[in-house]
Amino acid sequence: MPLPLFRTPGSWAKLIELVFFPSFCRLCGELLEKPGERVICADCWGKVRAHRSPICPSCGRFHEAAGESHICRKCIDQRPPFCIHRSCGKYDGILKDIILLYKYRRYSILGKGLAEFALQAVGGDDELWWGVDALVPVPLHRRRRRERGFNQARIFAGELAKLKGLGLVDGALVKIRNVPPQTSLEAVDRAKNVRGAYLVKREKAVWGKVLLLADDVYTTGSTLKECSRTLLEAGAKEVRAITIAQA
Ligand SMILES: [Zn+2]
Ligand SMILES: [Zn+2]
Repeated sequence: MPLPLFRTPGSWAKLIELVFFPSFCRLCGELLEKPGERVICADCWGKVRAHRSPICPSCGRFHEAAGESHICRKCIDQRPPFCIHRSCGKYDGILKDIILLYKYRRYSILGKGLAEFALQAVGGDDELWWGVDALVPVPLHRRRRRERGFNQARIFAGELAKLKGLGLVDGALVKIRNVPPQTSLEAVDRAKNVRGAYLVKREKAVWGKVLLLADDVYTTGSTLKECSRTLLEAGAKEVRAITIAQA
């Protein structure tokens, strides 16, 4: 006699999948048996924490010390071209593990869970969203995208746009220069490295719009700054940014 859990046709399908194609959480090794679980189990997702401490309201950089949110020294010297940036968590622990799986192991399906986490971390009514016309993923150079199989920022931005009922401007901002990986460079070199690396191909898609750039990891901000500058030069009214994590 079937267990009550497996009475409906959908549950039968799940039972068959569990018996013949069992899959396990890539982080903790537990069997993925709950409905909707893919790649990572619900318990591991539950351990991902949003960042809760003072930030720089301009560049979004987390302040280590306790106290009120305040403008950081770098932003006092020079405001970034984007006017708000929100990062959802620290790039360490389980969030870093998930991003690495997402990005380098081709688990593009994790983009949906990461977008849900981001929305919950920032809050649906945060000023970041006010008046936004569309999300814009930080593009990869086409060669890099071919190697990776997908653009992680594009999937994340698409899922986030769906959750918020916003538009997605895809393919208007492109990366025209395949620069060396940013991770191997110092901050000053990173800024130089990306200068002129992006181009707006379809100005009509960005002109006069309030755009929200989306990327996976924020390090020095040089990528977001260069993309923002490029979009503003092409006529965007305002550029903001969201990243999943901050290193
Ligand atoms: Zn797990
Ligand atoms: Zn700042």
